This record gives sequence, C-alpha cells and structure tokens, in this order.
Amino acid sequence: MSKISELSDSNKNVSRRGFLKGAAMAAASGSIIPNSKTTKPVGPEISKTTNLSADICVIGGAGAGLIAAARAVEAGVKNVIVLEKMKQPGGCTQVGVAGMFSIESPVQKRQGIKGSADEFYKHHMDMHSWYCDAKLVRNWYTTTGSVVDWLEKKGVEFGEATAFPYEKFTAAYHWAKNGMFGKVVVEAMLKYLKANGVEVRTNTRATKLITNVNGDVTGIEATSGDEKLRISAKAVILGTGSISGNKKLRARFYPGEDMSNVYIMGAQPFATGDGLIMAEEIGAASTHISTLFIGPHGHNTNESTGTLARRPNLIKVNRLGHRFVDEAIVVTREFYSWMNCLAVDRQPDKVCYVLIDEATLRKFQKENKSMGAFEMFGGPNWLADLDKGIPEEASKGRAKIANTWNEIAKYIGCDPETLKNTIAQYNSYCTNKYDAEFLKDPEHLLPLTTPPYYAIQGYSGIDTCIGGIRTNHNLEVVNKKFNPIKGLYAAGVAVGNWLSIGYGPFGSCFSFTTFSGYVAGSNAAKFVLG
Ligand SMILES: Cc1cc2nc3c(=O)[nH]c(=O)nc-3n(C[C@H](O)[C@H](O)[C@H](O)COP(=O)(O)OP(=O)(O)OC[C@H]3O[C@@H](n4cnc5c(N)ncnc54)[C@H](O)[C@@H]3O)c2cc1C
Repeated sequence: MSKISELSDSNKNVSRRGFLKGAAMAAASGSIIPNSKTTKPVGPEISKTTNLSADICVIGGAGAGLIAAARAVEAGVKNVIVLEKMKQPGGCTQVGVAGMFSIESPVQKRQGIKGSADEFYKHHMDMHSWYCDAKLVRNWYTTTGSVVDWLEKKGVEFGEATAFPYEKFTAAYHWAKNGMFGKVVVEAMLKYLKANGVEVRTNTRATKLITNVNGDVTGIEATSGDEKLRISAKAVILGTGSISGNKKLRARFYPGEDMSNVYIMGAQPFATGDGLIMAEEIGAASTHISTLFIGPHGHNTNESTGTLARRPNLIKVNRLGHRFVDEAIVVTREFYSWMNCLAVDRQPDKVCYVLIDEATLRKFQKENKSMGAFEMFGGPNWLADLDKGIPEEASKGRAKIANTWNEIAKYIGCDPETLKNTIAQYNSYCTNKYDAEFLKDPEHLLPLTTPPYYAIQGYSGIDTCIGGIRTNHNLEVVNKKFNPIKGLYAAGVAVGNWLSIGYGPFGSCFSFTTFSGYVAGSNAAKFVLG
C-alpha cells in the first residue's frame, strides 16, 4: 500500500490542490502520522543482516538526495548508495513541486531578465531580520543560478522564467518546459544515476547513524523488509525531507499551538523527520522550524472560491469583525507573504472571513482578466465557475451569501455593529483612496456597497515545515558547539536556518533544496576523495 505512488500517478498535471486533496484523503485514512518512535522500522521481524560498504550513502531518494548523489558521482565518487524508504523515489518533490526560484540563471540571461543575487540576498536577510545563517543564505543566492545551469546540463529542460505569482515581480520563477517541475528533476537525476550504475534502494529505511569513538559518522543502519543493512560509508548525506507528518515533532517545534484549525498539506507518510531524529541521536544541533503557510484557504474550498479569496481587492476580517492586514501584500510585495497567512495564523482560532460584494464580483466576471500566473490554479474559467463555486461552499457552511451585514455578522459570530463599522471605515478609505489603517495600495481599494454580500471562510494552512537539522554553510551537520560532525551532511527541507518566520521569493524551498543537494554532494565528494 504505497500512498506516494498513488499520489504521483494522480499528479501528472500541475495540480497542486489535487495533490493537497490527495494528502488530505491520506490523512483522513489515518496512515499519515506515525505514533511512535519514527525511526523504528514497522514491519516484519529481522531475519538476516547484510553488510555493505559505500563511499557515500545518501538517505532520501527525492529532490535533495538524488541531486546530492548525482553531484557526488559527477565529482568522481565511485560507490554511492541511495536509500529510499518508500516504494518509489520522489518524495514531496515529485508530487508537489511546480517550480523553483533562481536568480542570475542562464534561463533569465537568455530572456534578458535583470535582477541580481546581491539585491535578493540583501532583501532576504533584512526581511528575516538576520535570524538565519547569513553565510548559508549567501551561498544559496549566489549559487542558485549555476545550479540551474547544472540541471540543464543534466537534461532538465526549462521553460521561460516567469513573474510568479503576479506580474509586478521579477521573472524569477523557473518551470520545466514539459510537465511538473519536481517530477522532471527527479526523472533526470534517476536517469543520470542509472547511467552511472547507482542504484536507488527503495523500500529501505535508514534507522540509525553509525559513529566511531571520535563521534565521526562511519555508516548507517537500515531495514528493508526482514533484512537489516549495515552500510559502512565514508560520508552520509541526509536528504530526508520535512517533519510535517510527525505529530510529536510538530508538538515540540510549535509548543502550545492549537493546530486543530490548521490544514497541514505536507503531512505525508514519509515526512517524519527521520534525518533530524537520527542526527540528534548522535549529538547534532537542531534549528528552529520555519513554516511555509499557504492560507487563508486552509480548508479545501473549491478552486474558484479559493482563487477569489486570494484577490487583493477583497477585505479580510477576523472572528471579531476587525480587519487585520493589508490584503494587497500578496500582489505588492516581491517577497510574497503567503496570502496573508502569517497574519491569519495570529487571529483568534486562526480563522478569517474574506468579504466581497455583488458589484465587485460581477465586475471581476465582466472584466474576465487574470491578475497573474497564480490564478491558473483556479482553472481556465474560474471567474465564471464562481456562480456555482460560492453557493457550493455556502451549502457546506464554508461561505455565506446574504443581503445584510447583520446576517454575515451572525455567520461570523461577531458583533454586527463592529462589522458594519469596519465596512463603513473601509468604504471611506476607498472614497479617499487612502487606507488609513494598513496603507493598502489605492489601486486595490474597492468598496462593499451592493448586496448580496459574500463571506468566504479561510483558515491557516501549512504547506510544509522547513528545517530541524542544523548545518553550516557547507551543508555539514554541526554538533551542539556548532563544529561539523565529520562525515555527515544534510540537504533539502530537512535543513533549517535559512528562513525565520516568513518565506523568500516564490519557489524558495526547491531553490534551497537543489542548491543544498548540489553543495552537499560536492562537499561530501571532496571529503571522500581527499
Ligand atoms: C504540496 C506541496 C507543494 C510544494 N510545491 C513547491 C513548489 O512548487 N516549489 C517549491 O520551491 N517548493 C515546493 N514545496 C516544498 C517542497 O517540499 C520542497 O521544495 C522539496 O520538494 C523538498 O525536497 P526534499 O528532497 O528535501 O524532501 P522530499 O521531496 O520530501 O524527499 C524526502 C525523501 O526522503 C525519504 N526519506 C525520509 N526518511 C527516510 C529514511 N529514514 N530512509 C530512507 N528514506 C527516507 C522520503 O521518503 C522522501 O522520498 C512543496 C511542498 C508541498 C508539501
């Protein structure tokens, strides 16, 4: 019973939400969240032990791990073994990743797109208040362009870089020419590894790092069915992905947080933080977890309603009937703030209500204009689909259509006078073209005057949890004194310290994943080859 194979088959088209629905279904089946020590293999009794040896053993056969393995082979390492615990390689990368951020890439150079790594780096560090590893982030921004070059040389065909999600941004989002980007990258890496005689051992779960008396990593233990593998290796690279699907780790990294209204999309059966658990067992330091939110449409609204809820012109109120955010930051800030989701996460019950009136809804439909690439997730006719989409959500209690603000207030559960004051105040901002509260760009100020009024419910939703393992800028895992643990590297979203609370430019996760896989593979190869 392999959930990942089902998901990858159902995800041939770029349907992020389709994947998310798949993830939700798997979660509902109860198979997602392991309930005991995650690195302990669940399965048949061990009946035999096999000893193997490798120069480098890579744990995790997805974006980070496969890139690290390919890079190590290319650098001259002869004996590389990749372990993947699922039936098929690919992880989140294969089923979720639509594209990646890069700057100063050959794709952009061919298109004549300007934008510098220095400028993006400065912005990143300022935005994250330098609450991340400045050298690691510097390394990422200055290397991501050449990683795209390397991926192209490994057979990944890129389409045009686009301004994503909205037109005002630098065209720094990189897509595959044909197909889902993550899948294309995984296939290119598997092809390269196969051509170079590297086997990806699927259904094989790493369980424990082996160390010598000095604490250096000298191998890994793993299980595959009833077989125990003891693999001695000169270096181990952890590309084990997120902790999103591990309830215990989530409780540790989000202490005191009530997650009942949070929809965790990346809670995949493989995203159990095994790399972090194994590294900590041998004394590695951990980092904070950064969270990639994609709310406020945490609960699965239909595509058209979810797309409408992200438009900058609508207003968002909380359970008390107050506005709490500049709703337009989604289109006006290059470092996109994930649909106001950080702000939604801070509201009572982590819930918001997105409000629109009849006049604006019909205006949008009449104009029938896209505001940017992100709206492709709504489908080609999403504006027309709203006529069915909103009533469908209303029938499920996730939206309300009403002729008075009193009825909307009742639905929200707030004081009607407070809500009416909020609307009156907002309408005055629209008249004056000045949002005295949150300085929303006047271009996006549209009043709410014509009934019926619509309220769409939105929750906080976590896309994935990033980090846990602490490395230095060379992707060497460090101990609690921040000295490298010899022979141990990590890559991908298992690695933290490159974000604080928010995110970077769109596609930062896979940008960091490809960069860190590439660098961990290069540095492990250097270490092994001497
Ligand atoms: C729905 C969704 C959509 C996303 N879309 C994007 C996007 O468009 N752009 C973007 O930049 N980012 C996106 N991301 C973030 C994405 O997760 C990362 O960009 C990237 O895929 C992480 O790659 P990874 O190799 O670190 O982890 P993964 O791809 O999750 O791979 C980890 C692998 O390690 C294996 N593994 C774990 N433990 C063990 C063990 N003990 N032994 C053996 N194998 C093990 C797992 O089975 C898995 O195959 C998305 C995430 C989600 C959840």
